[in-house]
Amino acid sequence: MSTTTHAIAAPAPGAPLEQTTIQRRDLRPDDVLIDIAYAGICHSDIHQAQEDWGTAIFPMVPGHEIAGVVAAVGSNVTRYQVGDRVGVGCMVDSCGECEYCLAGTEQFCVKGNVQTYNGVGFDGENTYGGYSRQIVVKDAFVCRIPEGIELDVAAPLLCAGITTYSPLRQWGAGPGKKVAVVGLGGLGHMAVKLAVAMGAEVTVLSQSLKKQEDGKRLGATHYYATGDESTFDVLRGRFDLILNTVSAKLPVDAYLGLLRVGGAMVNVGAPGEPLSYNAFSLIGGNKTLAGSMIGGIAETQEMLDFCAEHGIGAEIETISADQVNTAYERVANSDVRYRFVIDTATIGS
Ligand SMILES: [Zn+2]
Ligand SMILES: [Zn+2]
Repeated sequence: MSTTTHAIAAPAPGAPLEQTTIQRRDLRPDDVLIDIAYAGICHSDIHQAQEDWGTAIFPMVPGHEIAGVVAAVGSNVTRYQVGDRVGVGCMVDSCGECEYCLAGTEQFCVKGNVQTYNGVGFDGENTYGGYSRQIVVKDAFVCRIPEGIELDVAAPLLCAGITTYSPLRQWGAGPGKKVAVVGLGGLGHMAVKLAVAMGAEVTVLSQSLKKQEDGKRLGATHYYATGDESTFDVLRGRFDLILNTVSAKLPVDAYLGLLRVGGAMVNVGAPGEPLSYNAFSLIGGNKTLAGSMIGGIAETQEMLDFCAEHGIGAEIETISADQVNTAYERVANSDVRYRFVIDTATIGS
């Protein structure tokens, strides 16, 4: 037994998305049924729907930036009640027993976390994501969206928000720290807002000055074009932390040169081709080149609470179900400020 719900799916790799129906499982004792209100379009949705990152599961219902309202709860669920505002991000299960799960970093589960879509649950069933009217998720992987953030601007926080919040916290963004955000897209605009709210002085490093006004409006103190080579001289030795949100190949050595002694460059963008650097760029200044992948569930909740406290949501453009394919093209062309969210009430209506 299961419930039929409307969804938007890619039937095959690279094929246009189309409306369809899917089955959601009946509630298990620890499950929550969520009426989805909004689903963000993350660039990784497009990569996976195009099978850019290796063999994927089709039909695929993308979407791991999910915001909605609890519609029903299983018999053992005490954390949530019908009517609660909730969100779901990139994972919907993990083993719960390994050292990483026990440490609250379920994204690194040794048995592999179960991805919200394009994944296979421990029950052997394929997972389908947020481009849908309803979803069933284990309560431990559901986060609360506090009052004070609207659901539409909250949805992108579940991936873009946590992906940038976690490294900013890990690497100590705060008062007295100079943080550079590379790229002002879906991830970058969240990084700017969050780092500013944490009290850091934020500089945007973007290819051109095209979005300078936006960057300043979001709270950045400085804005430099990386297409202008003098930028790398002017800013030499400036930053405690560089958060790279760009998925394109970068001259890593040039960026490492912008770090202070002991500074770190953290990658959350993932280019298809390898990045290279000269070891001396790290050695000469005790610098760190690092990566960061989303965040655990507890940290995701912490991020949502932080955003509510500071009045932070994503900058969004809301679309209806029939605009998803156009939105995919626009995301691929970097033509969105800064996140599309699908009004899921328009799916199947
Ligand atoms: Zn994402
Ligand atoms: Zn685990």
